[in-house]
Amino acid sequence: MNLTHTLLVASGNRHKLDEIRTILAPCGLRILGTADVGGLPEVIEDGLTFRDNAVKKAREVAMAKALPALADDSGLEVLALDGRPGVFSARYAGQQGDDAANNRKLLADLTGVADRRARFVCVIALALPDGRLLGTAEGEVRGRILEAPRGTQGFGYDPLFLPDGCDQTFAELAEAAKNHLSHRGNALRNALAAGLIGTALD
Ligand code: IMP
Repeated sequence: MNLTHTLLVASGNRHKLDEIRTILAPCGLRILGTADVGGLPEVIEDGLTFRDNAVKKAREVAMAKALPALADDSGLEVLALDGRPGVFSARYAGQQGDDAANNRKLLADLTGVADRRARFVCVIALALPDGRLLGTAEGEVRGRILEAPRGTQGFGYDPLFLPDGCDQTFAELAEAAKNHLSHRGNALRNALAAGLIGTALD
């Protein structure tokens, strides 16, 4: 792979950008975020699946900014809530990106519920400036929802999510430890293993 290749991360979420930068660091790519390209076009996330939304974001941003783009769409699926909040994770309580309100609603919806199994899911999509989709990769991490938040790191539902086999929530783990376990880490590693990121930019 040519080390000067550039990849634009199609996300305004600084935490996601940091995680993606760290996980892809060994690739030697020049990874750009929103601030490096003077902002991103607004993409309406109206897909019914994580894949639909990731593909839409990657293609629209790649075309608008004339750069290869990587988009991720991710969310939390809770078994006892039939997979909710799912694709509505970011706006579960109504307002887009209100993490505190989303966490409060999740705890309220799970009041008295013993089965607290859940998983984070992430779909990564890569697209080229001509709008061509290079492919997608998916990752997940299984765990359960605690009765009260723990930890201050990360974002979103991190303080309520205890990954299987771990005694710290995503908000208590150091960034490297979260990346090692996370749905986003797994999706990116799957994309790398499938040759998707290399193929995209060679
Ligand atoms: P997206 O930006 O449309 O992919 O929305 C993802 C939403 O799912 C976020 O706003 C969070 O609520 C939740 N989410 C996704 N990934 C994570 C994570 O790694 N930790 C905590 N919450 C996450």
